Amino acid sequence: MVKITLPDGSTIKISEGTTVERLAEQIGQGLAKAAVAAKVNGELVDLSAPIMDDAHVQIVTFKDEDGLEIMRHSCAHIMAEAICSIWPDAKLVYGPAVEDGFYYDIDLDESIRPDDFQRIEGKMREIVEADRPFVRKEMSRSEALAKLSGDKYKTDNINRTDSEVISFYSHGDGFEDLCRGPHVPSTGKCGSFKVMSVAGAYWHGDPTQKMLQRVYGTAWPDQKQLEDYLYRLDEAKKRDHRVLGRQMDLFSFNEAGPGFAFIHAKGMIIWNQIVDFWRTLHDKYEYQEIKTPIILNEELWHKSGHWDNYKENMYFTSFDDADYAIKPMNCPGGCLVYKTGQHSYRELPMRVAELGLVHRHEASGVMHGLFRVRQFTQDDAHIFCKPDQIESEVIGVIDLTFETYRAFDFEDFRVELSTKPQKHIGSDEIWEIATNALKDALVHKSIQYKINEGDGAFYGPKIDFHIRDCLKRSWQLGTIQLDFSMPERFGLVYTDEDNTEKHPVMIHRAVLGSFERFIGILIEHYGGNFPLWLCPEQVRVLPISEKTNGYAGSVHTKLRESRLRCSCDLTDEKIGAKIAKAHGDRLPYMLVVGPKEAQTGTVNVRMRGIKENRTMDIEEFLRTAKQKIADKDIDVTF
Ligand SMILES: [Zn+2]
Ligand SMILES: [Zn+2]
Repeated sequence: MVKITLPDGSTIKISEGTTVERLAEQIGQGLAKAAVAAKVNGELVDLSAPIMDDAHVQIVTFKDEDGLEIMRHSCAHIMAEAICSIWPDAKLVYGPAVEDGFYYDIDLDESIRPDDFQRIEGKMREIVEADRPFVRKEMSRSEALAKLSGDKYKTDNINRTDSEVISFYSHGDGFEDLCRGPHVPSTGKCGSFKVMSVAGAYWHGDPTQKMLQRVYGTAWPDQKQLEDYLYRLDEAKKRDHRVLGRQMDLFSFNEAGPGFAFIHAKGMIIWNQIVDFWRTLHDKYEYQEIKTPIILNEELWHKSGHWDNYKENMYFTSFDDADYAIKPMNCPGGCLVYKTGQHSYRELPMRVAELGLVHRHEASGVMHGLFRVRQFTQDDAHIFCKPDQIESEVIGVIDLTFETYRAFDFEDFRVELSTKPQKHIGSDEIWEIATNALKDALVHKSIQYKINEGDGAFYGPKIDFHIRDCLKRSWQLGTIQLDFSMPERFGLVYTDEDNTEKHPVMIHRAVLGSFERFIGILIEHYGGNFPLWLCPEQVRVLPISEKTNGYAGSVHTKLRESRLRCSCDLTDEKIGAKIAKAHGDRLPYMLVVGPKEAQTGTVNVRMRGIKENRTMDIEEFLRTAKQKIADKDIDVTF
């Protein structure tokens, strides 16, 4: 008998050689039915795998990311068979799972076109309906190489693994593919899929190699989830911030400055509201704010290490016979400000924020509206502290970060911790102190996090914050990076309790990342329907006819006195047309006023997204609207 430990800590005895599938049945019929694969001592295996020793076992279902990934990858095999049955000349290269789906790189002279997708899907459906088992076959490396001789792609795949045992998976009917696995038990588990697109992709991403055809698909546990996903994709297209940004007159781009955004008046209102909120919050968390120049001489960038590590992304200029660079980051400027004074341990921690305008040269091909630009404003800050203050400072940054995200209606966060890379500076001891401080801070805040082993910057470990928007898309926004290098490079010191001079620890952090990109994300997250506090125009007064223009004017004045952003539509248009225009402009509130309202000092309120309208006292409307602004309420209705 062998002892199996389950994720909840309970144990179960089974006879040696029992398959994972039988084990799942012993645990429960429901689980056995949902089972896709299993994790045995942390390693993913097929349901048909026998368990030979004591082990920790987790049955993997579609509720786990791993389960989805296995199903999506299995779908890639099914699509590969479908493609090979339509084009017998197709050579298979590589077919992994990716976020939300999978792809397969195919070498085929004939182009696969979107018209062909239905045919491919039809074949795939036949394979799925036949519910054929995935069968694993293992052989030695040399046997596998002999079996695949002449197939340069698959031979290359084998040469890229160091495993001595090579496995193949077949799913009946003679189709077989080299694969490490695992797979779903049978093709019937891959029910809801769609072939999405095809694009050119070089073998190994190398432009000197042959251009292959990369066919993408998406796959979900059931039809409903597939339809939800397709809806989200469609919705994302409709919410494209580049389209809404133009419609709403928020920003533009011009060939005069590729990758440099022009923020229009309405866009600046949103921008400034975010800045005001940012300042209030940074004051609450006891930050100082500074501003440093965007052009600084080349020598500084040699000293900071940017010249050696970041030169390709920098812009340069020269004047007065000297060479300068336009800053890609704010840190060196922040260091120079720190250096202008003497610092005692009593002053630490020093939290110094800067809304810094940075320029980073990006290849023209990767630019994408506000998401990827060459000039942007970072909500940057540097915290100078003692090593024993790292944990509490990081906790403070985490609190500030989450408070910021919640104000914009982002509640779904993901945190990743990146640790010491191969190439690094600083002693192992300081790395350990710093990494543990980051971990302790996360544990203190009861935050689940994923570790990216070896993914830290060369100068220190870091925490990254990711949010999910309402379309479940993930965005990396904030970051906290510890730095042991820059304070030394710049000779930053403080006088410690024992009267000796020491280098402070420098914490680089950003919460929103880039203002431009964040506004782009907000436009898509809200679908252009901004909450009241961010709306460029919050209220519009719409007189029914010329006769009530006077009353409309007095309502408008009251709104202005209450500092609401508002206008009054005094055009000759019919009221229906005025309302339609205000709807199109995504106005949160329209105040329709006619003779009746003028007589009683009321307004007829129409709210964005609501059919019914409501007559109320103007003072009551003002009170409610102001409260919604103060609360940063996401919902404009009341
Ligand atoms: Zn596979
Ligand atoms: Zn920095």
